[in-house]
Amino acid sequence: MTKTTTTEDPYADIRDAVRDLCARFPDEYHRKVDEKRGYPAEFVDALTQAGWMATLIPEQYGGSGLGLAEASVVMEEINRSGGNSGACHGQMYNMNTLLRHGSEQQKQFYLPRIASGEWRLQSMGVTEPTTGTDTTKIKTTAVKKGDKYVVNGQKVWISRVQHSDWMILLARTTPLAEVTKKSEGMSIFMVDLREAEKTGMTVRPIPNMVNHETNELFFENLEIPAENLIGEEGKGFRYILDGLNAERTLIAAECIGDGYWFIDRVTKYVKERVVFGRPIGQNQGVQFPIAEAHIEVEAANLMRWEACRLFDAHQPCGAQANMAKYLAAKASWEAANACIQFHGGFGFANEYDVERKFRETRLYQVAPISTNLILSYVAEHVLGLPRSF
Ligand SMILES: Cc1cc2nc3c(=O)[nH]c(=O)nc-3n(C[C@H](O)[C@H](O)[C@H](O)COP(=O)(O)OP(=O)(O)OC[C@H]3O[C@@H](n4cnc5c(N)ncnc54)[C@H](O)[C@@H]3O)c2cc1C
Repeated sequence: MTKTTTTEDPYADIRDAVRDLCARFPDEYHRKVDEKRGYPAEFVDALTQAGWMATLIPEQYGGSGLGLAEASVVMEEINRSGGNSGACHGQMYNMNTLLRHGSEQQKQFYLPRIASGEWRLQSMGVTEPTTGTDTTKIKTTAVKKGDKYVVNGQKVWISRVQHSDWMILLARTTPLAEVTKKSEGMSIFMVDLREAEKTGMTVRPIPNMVNHETNELFFENLEIPAENLIGEEGKGFRYILDGLNAERTLIAAECIGDGYWFIDRVTKYVKERVVFGRPIGQNQGVQFPIAEAHIEVEAANLMRWEACRLFDAHQPCGAQANMAKYLAAKASWEAANACIQFHGGFGFANEYDVERKFRETRLYQVAPISTNLILSYVAEHVLGLPRSF
């Protein structure tokens, strides 16, 4: 494996343990799941049984009580092993929303069951087809009627719904026209997915470029118990932003895992592949893009640790989480391009796994937040430039 410049790794124990588990699921396993467009159930179960999916759950609720930094190591190692955290990362970032804003009663109800693996909390429903990134304009509504909220509307690209028991749903509880700030008046709810499918939620899978289970959701008078509201009504957007910072940082770690995977693979390949009587890796035209990608992955890694540090210290980390995600997604994409390029034709053969990882890492330029929207955030919220929307 490529040596990183970090000499002391405080997370070496976690890394080693996750690597050992991942080694039981070699390339062929992930390749077959991808070919079948299946779900890596055995892999996710093994991670759950070993306690890794409960990394962020406090010990008193049956988890390990670790921070985002440790959770990010788990995600990084999955991707670095050749797997795809996209099958299970939802639980990690959704967890923070519940942990930081759920009531004690809610935590006691959900967390031990999630920690034990009885339930999965893998889904988060934010994006809508007609509003896209402009989240404050969402049209899905939740109207309080007695001890229930009645939900109507539509979501798109909602992942892992078929492999999760619960989803955190963002809906408008006060119309946009009646709030003073557009970020107010939205609320988040725990939705029991299997129950919802029977009573007012329709799921339509979206076949896509990556083996990523994602769906359109239609809500027609779906009733959610009022006790499933997380935190205070109307403050859901603020709560979800906390979760989004965790999500961005974890995705950054996944991209870093991908980046190292691509660099490991291509470095090995170009040392062995002989063309014109010498290893192709002896040509500087081959060396430099690989070296450049390595530098970028290493730099992104530093920003990822800074985002983790701030998040775990409960300090504002929006800028760092966004910048880490931006740098890491860009670096893993550069590494992916170098890797496929210098594998020549073999990069396109399924059995090399490069094309699969190439597709997987490309997603992170667009989701969960697109590169342009990160640039816009930094321009306006960090540099104070005039708002463009
Ligand atoms: C495989 C997959 C899984 C996903 N899983 C989930 C999930 O589980 N839950 C969930 O809620 N969402 C999920 N998403 C949705 C994802 O977060 C969105 O696709 C993403 O945020 C972009 O939103 P959009 O697709 O509506 O693009 P749009 O908002 O329509 O934007 C399209 C493009 O235009 C650019 N653009 C838009 N406005 C501007 C602007 N003002 N300035 C510059 N550029 C701009 C964007 O950067 C983007 O590249 C998933 C998406 C995919 C593809």
